[in-house]
Amino acid sequence: PAREDITYWGAGPALMPTDVLQKAAAALINYNDTGLGIAEHSHRSQHATDIINEAKADLASYLSVPTDKYEILFMQAGGSGEFSAVVYNLVGAWVQKKKAAGASDSDLQKAVLSLKCDYIVTGGWSEKSYKEAGRLLGEEHANLVADSRKSSSTGKFGSITPESDWSLTSEAAYVYYCDNETVDGVEFPAFPESLKPKADGSGPIVVADMSSNILSRPIPVENYGIIFFGAQKNFGIAGITVAIVRKDLIPQPPPALMRKLGLPIPPIMLQYDSIAKNNSLYNTLSIFDVYIAGQVLKKLLSTYPNKVAGQAEVSDKKAGIIYSALEAHPDVYKIVPAQNVRSRMNICFRVTKGADVDAAEKAFLKESTALGLTGLKGHRSVGGIRASAYNSVPLAGAEKLAAFINDFAKS
Ligand code: PLP
Repeated sequence: PAREDITYWGAGPALMPTDVLQKAAAALINYNDTGLGIAEHSHRSQHATDIINEAKADLASYLSVPTDKYEILFMQAGGSGEFSAVVYNLVGAWVQKKKAAGASDSDLQKAVLSLKCDYIVTGGWSEKSYKEAGRLLGEEHANLVADSRKSSSTGKFGSITPESDWSLTSEAAYVYYCDNETVDGVEFPAFPESLKPKADGSGPIVVADMSSNILSRPIPVENYGIIFFGAQKNFGIAGITVAIVRKDLIPQPPPALMRKLGLPIPPIMLQYDSIAKNNSLYNTLSIFDVYIAGQVLKKLLSTYPNKVAGQAEVSDKKAGIIYSALEAHPDVYKIVPAQNVRSRMNICFRVTKGADVDAAEKAFLKESTALGLTGLKGHRSVGGIRASAYNSVPLAGAEKLAAFINDFAKS
C-alpha cells in the first residue's frame, strides 16, 4: 500500500507527519545548502548548536516551560534510561540539599537509613521504574505508594488508586508517577491533588514520565521537579529522550561522599549536570533526531496559535469519537480502563462479540488492516486492541476508525 492509504495506530515508534519526514529526508542529503547532510555535520558545528537551541526554545514556548528555572536536556538511553537517571540524580540532589543545610557526614549516614523514593504504580511502565529504583538503591528504599491492581476488583491495571489511599512518605527524596500508561491505557486526568505545592511553595519533588502523552495537553510545569519523555511517540523518532529538570535539582554531591554513604553515583551519560553543562553535547548526540523533533514543534506551533491548548482540543475530540463508537456497542466492545482515567492517547479495548474473544479480535484486526487501519494490536503483555491516537493521527483517521468500529459491531 501507499503511505496515504494507511492510518497507523501503533504505540511507538508512531506515525510521523509526512511533510516533516520529506523535509528531513532532504536534509539528510543536503542540509541548508551546505552540500552535506544533517547526519554528517559535526555535533560540534554551529548548525548542530542552532538546531538544539531552536528546538529547546520552541519546546519551551509550546509547553510554557519557565527556562529561568528549568533546563531542557536532550539525552540518550530512552525513557528506560530515565528510570535510572531519576534515581541517581534525585538521590544525589537529596544528599546535596541536606549537606547544604549543614548536615554532617554522620547525620547523612543516619538519614540514608530512612531514605525513601515514592512510586505510584498505575501500569507496566511505572512498575518497571519502581523496580529500577529498588534495584539501584535496595528494595527497602523504594516505597510503593499505591498499586492500582491492588485497589481494583479485577486485580489488573486499568484504574488509579484513590489519593486518600496513597501512602506517601513525608520526607521522600521524590514522588514518581507515569502520566499516561501506554500499555494499559490509563492517563491521569489532571495533576494529582495531594502532590500540589502548598501555599508557601513547599511540597514534594514530583517526577512524571510523559513519554506517551507529551505535547498533547497543557502541563503545570512548575509543579514538577522532572518531566521526561522519549521522542518516539509525539515528539519525533526514536533515539533521543528529553528531560525537563528544575535547575536546583541538578548539582550533585562529590562522588566520594556518595560512596561513603553507600549510594550510587550516576554514570556520566545519565548525570543531568554533565548534560546541562554541555548544552546536551557531552558526547555525540543524534542531531538528526533533534532536527526532526524541532520540525515537529515548528509544525505544531504553526498549526495552533494557542500552542498545546490547541492540540489538546483536537486530542480530546479524536479520543471522544473513538470512545463514543465503542460505548455505542457495549455488547461487542469492552473498554479496558475505568471511565475517569481513560487515556486520550492509547485507547485500549477488548472485542467481546460472541463466545470467542480471541477469534473476534483476530477478525477485528484482519478487517481493519484491510481498510488501511493498521497497528491496532494491543501490547503483547495484555492482548486486546489498542488505538494510539497520537498527535500525528489526523481527525479524519479517528473518524475512519470510529466508522469501522461501528460497522464491525453491526456485521
Ligand atoms: N515510558 C512510557 C510511558 C513508555 O510508553 C515507554 C515505551 O513505550 C517507555 C517509558 C520506555 O521507553 P524507551 O523504549 O524509550 O526506553
